[in-house]
Amino acid sequence: MKRTNDGGGTDRPPESGADSATGSAWGLPPDHEPGPETGRAPERPADAVTRRAAGVNLLALRSHNAALVLDLLRTAGPEGISRLELAERAGLTPQAVSKITARLREEGLATDAGRRASTGGKPRTVLRLVPEAGHAVGVHLDRDELRVVLVDLDGRVVGERCAPLSLGAGAEAVLDALLGEVTEVLSEALGSGAVLAPLGVGVALPGPLDHTRGVLHRVTGFPEWDGFPLRDVLAARLGVPVVVDKDTNAAALGLAVGGERGSFACLYLGTGLGAGLVIGDVVHRGARTGAGEFGHQVIQLDGPLCSCGNRGCVEALCLAAMGRGDVAEAARVLGEGAANLAGLLDIDAVLLGGRTIMAAPEPFVRGVAVVLDAHARREGSREGAVPVRLAPGGARAVAEGAAQLLLGPVFGRRDG
Ligand SMILES: [Zn+2]
Repeated sequence: MKRTNDGGGTDRPPESGADSATGSAWGLPPDHEPGPETGRAPERPADAVTRRAAGVNLLALRSHNAALVLDLLRTAGPEGISRLELAERAGLTPQAVSKITARLREEGLATDAGRRASTGGKPRTVLRLVPEAGHAVGVHLDRDELRVVLVDLDGRVVGERCAPLSLGAGAEAVLDALLGEVTEVLSEALGSGAVLAPLGVGVALPGPLDHTRGVLHRVTGFPEWDGFPLRDVLAARLGVPVVVDKDTNAAALGLAVGGERGSFACLYLGTGLGAGLVIGDVVHRGARTGAGEFGHQVIQLDGPLCSCGNRGCVEALCLAAMGRGDVAEAARVLGEGAANLAGLLDIDAVLLGGRTIMAAPEPFVRGVAVVLDAHARREGSREGAVPVRLAPGGARAVAEGAAQLLLGPVFGRRDG
């Protein structure tokens, strides 16, 4: 049965302490209304910003069906897609699709992409997403570095800043640096003529933390952050929605949005070791959003002391091997952890990311693959070992994924 309702109801907005994107931190007036569409004098640039921002505020509140259509427009790319194809793929009636696309065009989110010949009929007008109609900020707050990216609706990076910063510098210093860099990225983009209509800010940092409430737990190595309500503090200071998540989850979300399908683990070895888990195309955070604490599984009883307080954690053994310059041993340890995970979850792929791995990707990919191969042979798996690959995205993968925490819900993702 086809769904005919174009959806007056709303899905949940991005989780945040801020109720609406007032735009105050971005130099936009609060509570702006859409401007006139036609029959008036040419609008001033400020009006254009205001009108677009108002349209994008509605992005977070649109119906599931509209989000579905937006996502189909996004995945169709610049080539575009016809209304009939949209209806077929979304399982909606052509009338419902026409209504939704008319509204998207009014809001500046979709536009004509020309006409395309169709088999046995007249040429059809195709529509495409207008990527620059909306932006989100992604922040990667690492233990020793802060990276901020500005991305458009398509996830393309249009602004970036990176600065050294110790997560142990104290809350005020860290927040000031974060707010400063976010402001800089936005003013640089404004200076280049981009029209900003920010959906909000996604912040990714080492766990553990409570994603639902945006509250940090005892971040390994920096226990002073325990209980800090990062999401609400930032939302109050920025005046826009803020979403907080673990760096590994942001990386995994970025991969899932980027086209990695099925179930996979993204093992992330940087200043720490963690895993982002995607099960059936959805980021798996667990009942208390604590899933993915891969680095602190004990694989050597009475092994070396870990910064988490346990002994013989995968992370401690991996970092100790790296400290000795023994990349092969670090890869072997990581491989044993990956084999445990693959055995527990029966995933399709293991992807490796993070600064330490990116510095020497080949020995890590090969070393982990050797361990997984050995496990698969002992188990007699008919399909062979779980494939291991380097995660795409490079140094800004986490920051880009953090921006997807805001963009995901716009396109109907449940895990954004
Ligand atoms: Zn540990």
